[in-house]
Amino acid sequence: MVTFHFDPGSLSTRFVHDRLRRVFSLPARATYVRVGWPALIGEFRYAAEERGVRITTGSRVTTLPDDRPLILATSLAAASTLLGDDTLTQETDATALVDVAVRQDLRDAFVVSDLDYGGWLERFSLPDPGLAPAGESLVQVQVPLRPDDSRPVAIGRVEALIDDGLPGFRDRTTWRDRAAIDRGDDVYFVGDQVAAPGLLSEVSVSSAPGRSIWSSGLQALCVDRMLCSGRD
Ligand SMILES: Cc1cc2nc3c(=O)[nH]c(=O)nc-3n(C[C@H](O)[C@H](O)[C@H](O)COP(=O)(O)OP(=O)(O)OC[C@H]3O[C@@H](n4cnc5c(N)ncnc54)[C@H](O)[C@@H]3O)c2cc1C
Repeated sequence: MVTFHFDPGSLSTRFVHDRLRRVFSLPARATYVRVGWPALIGEFRYAAEERGVRITTGSRVTTLPDDRPLILATSLAAASTLLGDDTLTQETDATALVDVAVRQDLRDAFVVSDLDYGGWLERFSLPDPGLAPAGESLVQVQVPLRPDDSRPVAIGRVEALIDDGLPGFRDRTTWRDRAAIDRGDDVYFVGDQVAAPGLLSEVSVSSAPGRSIWSSGLQALCVDRMLCSGRD
């Protein structure tokens, strides 16, 4: 978790050591902001506007203005394009991340640090119970991706970590609790928030064919040509 890297041994010792000292120093320095990022961003916004900053959102900058000084606070890739500077590159890591909501169980861990694969499980609803409905836990799990990892392999490692941290979680969480697809009167509700199996957009896809909507003569709106090819 300290590096989010699949092979921390390949990194600079100074880099890793510095992070280990920060993360494992006592007393722990982590602060849990109630409600999470939205609360923090609201504070930043307020503080900035108090100082006369004008904020424009939803607007991509494609060329740099002539005004100086100019501060760029984008990703490295965007800064590279805007500055026309190819040297602004860096190896970055990716993780497989799964958010899980389960019914609470006294055996649930707060944190599990996976020393084999550098994974991390944390039950954020423990320090901030407002993140989940009463009686439920919100847990986030991350495992660094290896260069040759396929998605199922990475998700398998995440699920192994969840099995360790949340005993019996598979019996406590089920897509069958979600909104039913069949709304009656030949009306069907599909998408990634309904009672169908899968992960992310897989849920949308599996929700429709599962009810034979494609073949029932219903008008369906295809938002992805690849998913819809071969279907009328
Ligand atoms: C799942 C997850 C959990 C995390 N948890 C924590 C945590 O618990 N604690 C912690 O300290 N950190 C955490 N982090 C890391 C933290 O979110 C980042 O370090 C932080 O958000 C980086 O802020 P930033 O402003 O540098 O970059 P960003 O948040 O990436 O902001 C850059 C912005 O630039 C915008 N942009 C890019 N190009 C353009 C353009 N051409 N025109 C206009 N806008 C552009 C992007 O849309 C983006 O909004 C977490 C990250 C993730 C993904």
